[in-house]
Amino acid sequence: MVACPCGSGASFADCCRPFLKGELEPPTAEALMRSRYTANVRRDAGYLHRTWHDSTRPVSMDVDAVEWRGLDVVGTTGGGPDDAEGTVTFAAHHSTGGISTGTMRETSRFVKEGGRWLYVDGDVD
Ligand SMILES: [Zn+2]
Repeated sequence: MVACPCGSGASFADCCRPFLKGELEPPTAEALMRSRYTANVRRDAGYLHRTWHDSTRPVSMDVDAVEWRGLDVVGTTGGGPDDAEGTVTFAAHHSTGGISTGTMRETSRFVKEGGRWLYVDGDVD
């Protein structure tokens, strides 16, 4: 089993892979946030693009060259299957050349449109 990069404890095949493949929609804002983290790890710019709200989406998508080393979801508000918006606060650990370079902390905002969760923007601590 390949552990999912998002740190859920599930295998990649049972966690973020169906979202990245477009086979399933993430049911919650947290699931979308985790799958976008996994897309960063896997350099899947297409997934980041299509899960980004078109009001805030950059014209061109570059996936950061940093190596993502782990994700901690710190807290959530809303974002459940019956909600229309939500936030996810997380800490993402990164490194370069195998050397830890720090942790990015962000509270991301998400909205659900047409049954799909989308990333809007976020406040970096
Ligand atoms: Zn996952």
